[in-house]
Amino acid sequence: KDFKPLSKEEQNTIKEAQKALDAIESIPCTACRYCTPGCPMGIEIPDIFKAMNWYKIYGMKDKAKDRYESTVQKSAKASECIECGQCEGVCPQQLPIIKYLKECADVLEE
Ligand code: SF4
Ligand code: SF4
Repeated sequence: KDFKPLSKEEQNTIKEAQKALDAIESIPCTACRYCTPGCPMGIEIPDIFKAMNWYKIYGMKDKAKDRYESTVQKSAKASECIECGQCEGVCPQQLPIIKYLKECADVLEE
């Protein structure tokens, strides 16, 4: 089946949608989990980031805190990071993990 080229209007809609997505302030962790086995503190980094994104994307602080509470049943807390840098060294996205964890601790452990 042939595909029609996108109309100007459709292209604009896509551009707008992409702009909106770019503006969302989420932690762009893909949950590849490369960072977790090497963490000496046993921090389940992607699970903590996932909890935080409930707040960052949807503004749902209570839900984010609930998620965080259940995550730290099996993970050390974000505030227990000793800043060894091991996780950032292996993150394929080169995320500023330590900075994000501090933010998570501030919002979710207050
Ligand atoms: S910097 Fe923090 S989160 Fe990263 S590996 Fe070290 S202790 Fe774990
Ligand atoms: S290595 Fe980076 S992208 Fe992968 S789970 Fe850890 S923080 Fe997320």
